[in-house]
Amino acid sequence: MSDTPQSPASGSVSSPDNPLLKPWQTPFQTPPFGEITPEHFLPAFEQAFIDHAAEVAAITHDPSAPDFANTITALERSGKLLAKVSAVFYDLVSAHSNPALLAIDKDISLRMARHWNPIMMNAVLFGRIAQIHENRTTLALTPEQLRLLERTYTRFHRAGAGLDDTAKVRMAEINERLAHLGTTFSHHLLGDEQEWLLELGEDDLDGLPDSFVAAARAAAEERALPGKAIVTTSRSSMEPFLNSSNRRDLREKVYKAFTARGNNGNANDNNATIVEILALREESANLLGYPTFAVYRLEDSMAKTPEAARSLLERVWKPARARALADRDALQALIAEEGGNFTLAPWDWRYYAEKLRQIRADFDDAAIKPYLTLEGMIAAAFDCANRLFGLTFLERNDIPVWHPDVRVWEVKDASGKHQALFYGDYFARASKRSGAWMTSLRDQQKLDGEVAPLVLNICNFAKGAEGQPALLSPDDARTLFHEFGHGLHGMLSNVTYPSLSGTSVFIDFVELPSQLYEHWQEQPQVLRQFAKHYQTGEPLPDDLLKRFLAARQFNQGFATVEFVASALIDLEFHSQPASAVRDVGAFERTELEKIGMPAEISLRHRPTQFGHIFSGDHYAAGYYSYMWSEVMDADAFGAFEETGDIFDPATAKRLHDDIYSSGGSRDPEEAYVAFRGRKPEADALLRRRGLLETPQAA
Ligand SMILES: [Zn+2]
Repeated sequence: MSDTPQSPASGSVSSPDNPLLKPWQTPFQTPPFGEITPEHFLPAFEQAFIDHAAEVAAITHDPSAPDFANTITALERSGKLLAKVSAVFYDLVSAHSNPALLAIDKDISLRMARHWNPIMMNAVLFGRIAQIHENRTTLALTPEQLRLLERTYTRFHRAGAGLDDTAKVRMAEINERLAHLGTTFSHHLLGDEQEWLLELGEDDLDGLPDSFVAAARAAAEERALPGKAIVTTSRSSMEPFLNSSNRRDLREKVYKAFTARGNNGNANDNNATIVEILALREESANLLGYPTFAVYRLEDSMAKTPEAARSLLERVWKPARARALADRDALQALIAEEGGNFTLAPWDWRYYAEKLRQIRADFDDAAIKPYLTLEGMIAAAFDCANRLFGLTFLERNDIPVWHPDVRVWEVKDASGKHQALFYGDYFARASKRSGAWMTSLRDQQKLDGEVAPLVLNICNFAKGAEGQPALLSPDDARTLFHEFGHGLHGMLSNVTYPSLSGTSVFIDFVELPSQLYEHWQEQPQVLRQFAKHYQTGEPLPDDLLKRFLAARQFNQGFATVEFVASALIDLEFHSQPASAVRDVGAFERTELEKIGMPAEISLRHRPTQFGHIFSGDHYAAGYYSYMWSEVMDADAFGAFEETGDIFDPATAKRLHDDIYSSGGSRDPEEAYVAFRGRKPEADALLRRRGLLETPQAA
């Protein structure tokens, strides 16, 4: 037991020795990663559950009449240890896992559900919250307090706090099982990703740029295959390989391995997991009185209904599909021109699209890559944050990290006051799950004095060759700005209550700060300053810059189709009866047929690898939200363009006050209108993707 001191000689991890249970003596009280080992987590979680349950019990059984301070604020103060231990644990399990951590993860996801169920379904506690909520207009609350009360009431209500006892018992069982299944799903995916690799012999390098080969050697080194070169199923390995490899046979192998993840009929197969997840989600929605999970999920979003989300996706789908079909014909014509006697296959699309782009726009990714150093793009992201929000960044080497590749910067505001710490963990490795994400080790709040956030960006970029800097593709550079935009949402947060902090907003609003930030990455004045050749130090030549910007809209039919189809199938999974999805593969085929999916394009995330919607329920029936946010980000950047200055101070101040610093303390639509002066218009999105004009005939 964690609260029973044992002799240190027994190898004890109990409280006196457990770094997770002691105050952190590091600069800025950051987690002492060097001292934390997997065996510290279970006892720390155990203690955290006990502490939190006791705090909640005290609130529930408070003899005084319920009021905002003794109930709502008290709930905000509870669970500090649990938040602290969880943040460190989930950072490690995602960014630097090992078998011991993965085993604990399985155990903890279930324990977590068992811990939260009785809290979120506590009828007495909910009674107190409901009583305060009922009297809300008479309580003289600040706007932030009123918002917090609304959110707390809604969260408990939607978790089933108002259900009868039988329904609550079933709800608790469902939540436990879903927690287990979500973890299983992501472990399976990680398992398949770790298992597969393609070793490249000297004959297999045809067409691959030097930067790719260097990255392939670094990836082999990482997998303990020194001297070899490998392709993996991480997106940052798969995409450049399919873009450039002249070996059609190898492209087919890599494409098939990538799209088969979680669908191999082995121990990592996710098909049965999906079927069970969908049935349980449907049952829980029904218990709460909703016809489908999608209706339940979207009620608490900006879109409000599945119909509203679907109608935006359909508006984009038609022109995107038309563009993709026209592009397909052009790619097929290119194959014929080259004397090829085969039909364009999915593993050919990226390769011939690159060729066509070189012909039409006289541009290929490989030409710009030597100018996009990781270092240069980090500097660019920081510089934009300085011009917009006055932030400065100073690298610190005295902050403990979880892997030697992780870097830390201290962030100060315009007046020189400490604002945050920013951790950047940029390189791919086998212990990291795929993708890129932002998270935090501590959120901003000022309930009991200022708490500065610890914000993380985790990416999967390829390392540079021995002694050479890491070079980014244009997509990588955009990802870096995207995650940094989320990072700013966390770092600039200025709210009182922890549950409203930073990115604690609706999922169809949360991508606005990140996607909006991407716009600055592709501005000529930013690229001219920060895109410099890694060998010569020369700035990006104007002519290449022009061709790069002109090529941006190239292949947008493909990109939009693979995204929108994934978002539509996510809505279908959660709108149709779960009994319709007994065979996941058949369901996928039927749905893709219905929308007329071009056969040469597959989903951006096929079901068995769609971690967004199956590793947990965060993006379930919510993948559309990237596009919902894109309507706003395209429209919002227009506010800067209209002033003629992409760093216009007055617009930047509104952006800071209304969007980046307000967290979940305001209604998102009201916050957007305050920034822009009106609601967003969808045309900006279609224009940015080049989908407003009719596609030219092939
Ligand atoms: Zn994002």
